[in-house]
Amino acid sequence: MTRSRELDVVLLGAPGAGKGTQAERIVARYGLPHISTGDMLRDAAAAGTELGREAKRYMDTGELVPDEVVIGVVRDRLAEDDTRDGFLLDGFPRTCEQAERLDVMLAADGRALTHVIEIDVPEEELVARLAGRRLCRECGRSYNVVFDPPGREGVCDACGGELYQRDDDDEETVRNRLAVYRRQTEPLVEYYRGRGVLHTVRGGGKMPDEVFSQVTAILDAA
Ligand SMILES: [Zn+2]
Repeated sequence: MTRSRELDVVLLGAPGAGKGTQAERIVARYGLPHISTGDMLRDAAAAGTELGREAKRYMDTGELVPDEVVIGVVRDRLAEDDTRDGFLLDGFPRTCEQAERLDVMLAADGRALTHVIEIDVPEEELVARLAGRRLCRECGRSYNVVFDPPGREGVCDACGGELYQRDDDDEETVRNRLAVYRRQTEPLVEYYRGRGVLHTVRGGGKMPDEVFSQVTAILDAA
């Protein structure tokens, strides 16, 4: 761990912006618990808890899980001891209303977000990244036909498995997903800008290492 103060961080980024990669690196470097609402809801659904069963009903039909369910999951998680010195929230909040609820939740504990980091990637690059993504049916490894192609088209370098494109990675669906993200998240970015905690990292045309060095510059600054 390379820090001496509390880091209460929210990570924002569109699908394809590389949020997952940066989240992994942040939690490893700063020793923060990674609070991914997507993972937690999927885990709860798999474990069959009451909350999990409720969340699953929505996820199965492709609907957004309602605020009350997601906020309940986050509240329970933030009450655990390992978040006392900080956390990295990923996938929450998604709306201004959720952001306000989070602020109230933290304030009740005498805390406030220290950083909101937005990974900004131009839309055309996101479309190229997502629409070019291919996954291995056998081992799950991901490729990109433009940026990270396999040695042989359609075949996994690691295991020889067949590569496929996820249904929601075709270009039209990708553009819809990005439009939904933009509509929800732009007001959120303004909300956090108004609170003086927003930091924007430029992810366009950048390798993960270059993005991460911008992130650490922000989190290491006094
Ligand atoms: Zn494979």
